[in-house]
Amino acid sequence: MKNTPELRNWLDNLKLEHPVVIAGPCSAETEEQVLGIAHQLKDTDVNYFRAGIWKPRTRPGNFEGVGAIGLNWLKRAKEETGLKIATEVANKNHVELALEADVDMLWIGARSTVSPFIVQEIADALKGTDKIVLLKNPVNPDLSLWLGGIERLYKSDIKNLGVIHRGFSTYEKTKYRNIPEWQIAIELQNRFPDLPLICDPSHITGKRDMIYDVSQTALDLNFDGLMVETHTDPDNAWSDAAQQVTPDSLVQIMKDLKIRKETDPESEYNMKLDNLRAQIDFIDNSMIDLLGRRMKVSDNIGALKKSRNVAVLQTKRWNEILGKMILEGEQHGLSEEFVLRIFKAIHQESINHQEKILNK
Ligand code: PEP
Ligand code: MN
Repeated sequence: MKNTPELRNWLDNLKLEHPVVIAGPCSAETEEQVLGIAHQLKDTDVNYFRAGIWKPRTRPGNFEGVGAIGLNWLKRAKEETGLKIATEVANKNHVELALEADVDMLWIGARSTVSPFIVQEIADALKGTDKIVLLKNPVNPDLSLWLGGIERLYKSDIKNLGVIHRGFSTYEKTKYRNIPEWQIAIELQNRFPDLPLICDPSHITGKRDMIYDVSQTALDLNFDGLMVETHTDPDNAWSDAAQQVTPDSLVQIMKDLKIRKETDPESEYNMKLDNLRAQIDFIDNSMIDLLGRRMKVSDNIGALKKSRNVAVLQTKRWNEILGKMILEGEQHGLSEEFVLRIFKAIHQESINHQEKILNK
C-alpha cells in the first residue's frame, strides 16, 4: 500500500479547528438513552455520535448489544441532532445492515482486527464504500496485524480510512485497562503519515479519571482525534460503566486539553520540533519506568540472596552483562564509553537496592 494523502480527505473536509471527536455510549441500551445522550452532545465539539449495537464481549452472558433495532435509534438521533453516526461492525451482516441504515462511520473492533478472515470479510462487504471506516488496533501488541488490516481495507477500495488506538491487552495488571504502548502507534504514524489516527482513551484507561491525561498525551503525539465513551448515567451503564464520562465532563475535558493549532508553512519547523520533543518525552518516561521495573527485579534478587546468605556482588555475572550490553549498544549506534557509564550507574543503584534488603 502506497502512502497516499487522499486518505486524509474525509478529515480535512471537516475543516475542524480541533481534533475530530467521536462520542457516545459504549452500548445503545434504549431509544431514550440514545436520544438523551445525543441531544446532550449536540452543539458541543462532538462530530460523530457513537453507540455499540452489537457488543463483542470477552465472556458470554454479559449484555451483548440490542442488535439491529438500535440502528433505528441512531438514525433518529441523526435526524434530531444533525450529528453524524458511528457504530461497530464485526461481520458481513452487520456491514449490510449498517450501510442500509446510512451509518456514516463504521469501525472494526479490537477483537475483530486480530482475525484476518473477519477483516477480509468486512473489507469485502464494504468494497468501494465512501463511508468512513476506522480500524482499531488488535488486542495484542502486533503492529503487522494492524497494518495488514489497513492493507485489506485499502485494497477493497475504501478511501475514507482511519485507525483507532485503544491500547493493548496484558496478562500483568497495570494501571491501564489496555496499555497504550504509544511507540506502536507512533510507528504506524511514521509508516502512514496521512492516515488519520484517533485515540480511544476510554478503552486504554478503563477509568474515567484517567481520560484527560491519556487524551492530552495523544494530542501531544499528534493524534487527529479522540473517541470517548459518553453516557448520561455512566455508573448505571449496561457496559463499561467505570470508563464512561457524562456529556458535561466531556465538554470540560475538551476545554482543558491543550490543542495544537493548525500551522502555517512558516511554523512547519516548530511543529516538527514539537512532535520530535513529544517523542523524546515519551521515551524518557518509558526509560524511567523501565529502570524502576529493573530495580524491583533487583530487590527480588536481593531477597533471594538473603535467604541463601549469598553475597551481593557477583563479578562474573556483572562482567558478562557489561560485555553483552556493549555489543548490543554498538548495534544501536551507542559508544562503548556511553554504555559503560550508563550500566555502571545502573549497577550501582542495583547494588544499593540489594544492600538495603540484605541489611534490613
Ligand atoms: C467499543 O468501542 O465499545 C469496543 C468494544 O471497543 P474495543 O473493540 O476497543 O474493545
Ligand atoms: Mn466499550
